[in-house]
Order: sequence, then C-alpha cells, then structure tokens
Amino acid sequence: MNLFRFCSGLKVLGYFVILLVITFVAVSYYAVVVNTWWPILIENNHRALSALACLIIFVFHFLLIMLLWSYFTAVCTDPGSVPEHFRRELVVVGDSLEAGTSTEQGALGYCPKCRNVKPPRCHHCSVCQRCVLKMDHHCVWIVNCVGARNYKFFLLFLLYTFLETLLDVVVLLPSFIEFFSQAIKRSSSPSQLASLVLAFVLNLAFVLSLLCFIVMHLSLVSTNTTSVEVHEKSGDVRWKYDLGKRKNFEQVFGKKKAFWLLPLYSKDDLHNITSLQGLEFPTRSDIDP
Ligand SMILES: [Zn+2]
Ligand SMILES: [Zn+2]
Repeated sequence: MNLFRFCSGLKVLGYFVILLVITFVAVSYYAVVVNTWWPILIENNHRALSALACLIIFVFHFLLIMLLWSYFTAVCTDPGSVPEHFRRELVVVGDSLEAGTSTEQGALGYCPKCRNVKPPRCHHCSVCQRCVLKMDHHCVWIVNCVGARNYKFFLLFLLYTFLETLLDVVVLLPSFIEFFSQAIKRSSSPSQLASLVLAFVLNLAFVLSLLCFIVMHLSLVSTNTTSVEVHEKSGDVRWKYDLGKRKNFEQVFGKKKAFWLLPLYSKDDLHNITSLQGLEFPTRSDIDP
C-alpha cells in the first residue's frame, strides 16, 4: 500500500470537508436562529425574553462572521514555502546535498523529496508534497497545511468555532429538553425535532473535541513549539525557541493588541517579527542556536 497516494487522497477529501463545514453552519443557523430564537423575538410580548433573544441572535451572527473570516483566511493563506534564494544557495553549495548544510542563515536541513535545502523548523508535507515553513500539521478541515503564515488564523478559527458551538449548545438546551419531553408525549413536528437534535448533538461533539484541541495548542503556543517539534524536544533540556510566555505568544499573534483577535497582522508586525515569515527564528540567549 502506497501511503503517499493515501495522503494525496486526503487533499481531494478536503474540498468535500469545506462543504461539510458550510452544511454544519447552515444546520446550526436553522436550528438556533430560524427555528428557535427568531420566533421567540417576534412572537412573544415578554420584554426580558425578547432582549435575551436579541442578544443571542446578535452574538450568534458576530461569532459566525469571525468564524467564517478566520476559516477562509486559514484556507486561502499560503503557510509558506521555501523561497527561491534558498534554492540558489543549494546550487552555490554544490554537489554535497547533505543535511546540516551551514550558511549565514544557520544550520539548514535538506529535503530529499524536494531535493532542496530547508530553513529551520521547516518540514515536508506528504499531502501538499512540498516543504512547509514552520509546519505544524496538515489540516483536512482547512484543506491546507498549518504553518508559519497561517497558524494564527487556524487558532482563531478554533477559538471562534469553540465559542459558537458552545453558544449553540447552551441556547439549544432548553428547546432540546422541551422537544424531547413533548416528543415522548405527542411526537411533535418531526422535521423540527430532527434539525434540533442534529444541531445539538453535532455542536456538543464539536465543543468537547475543540476544547481538547484548544488546550493542546495553548500549551504549544506558550512554549513556542509546533505539533511536529513535540517529538523533537528532549526531556529536561530547555527548548531553544522558548522565549518566555509573552514573547512566545507574540511570535504567533503579533505585538499589536488590536490585531490579536483578528485574522490579520499589522504591517509592522509582518516586517519586524521574522518568525511570521517562517525563515528565521529568535532563540534563547542562554542556548547556542
Ligand atoms: Zn520537501
Ligand atoms: Zn500539507
């Protein structure tokens, strides 16, 4: 069995996954807004309940916009590939195509599949079939690799999806319980029941799995480690890219606070924070690079 052929298959599956994400959003929208809270907003005379419905509908739409914005930015942003001047260096270095070729950029690795040098923290992705800068993992949900230039957008997608699905679970819970007790008594409207149950169960599953994933990535960001590098780190030795929690966070999210929760970077951050370009990474001063 050819594993690489299987990996290429994942790429095709990816486009189907985008449709799946959109379907999931549509089902949740129907269950939360169309079926539950919009009718409450327009049909009842209770002021407090109307205000609550208004708030829920507003927050739902706000999170939905942020979620889709982060999602499509993560899908469309190139995580970063090895630039041309690295290829030229390979030619200058000559015939010795070996790992650890040393240049002014620091120790460079060598990828036998691309037949090319690779900058620090760069890894070859078998699905994309190329080297990806500061590769974290290949994500079927965004049909893209997660790397130096789109890691923040991927994390924001996780965050907003978690908040949106959490909101869905909380605001669907009362109708979920009510519908179930009614269904047992007099089996009321099967199509509404189906969308409600589907949306509730899917959202609950996403909330729980996203929580685990977010906790994992929080610990990775706080130590400036990628998912690939977890296996490279050796026990007691301080990780050379670990600059302290605050600086590690800025290496991914940038220094401008106003941009932290947006799938964007300020021009200054893109220019000054070299790790966002994915070629050079600052290391701890007490450890030789
Ligand atoms: Zn490669
Ligand atoms: Zn990939």
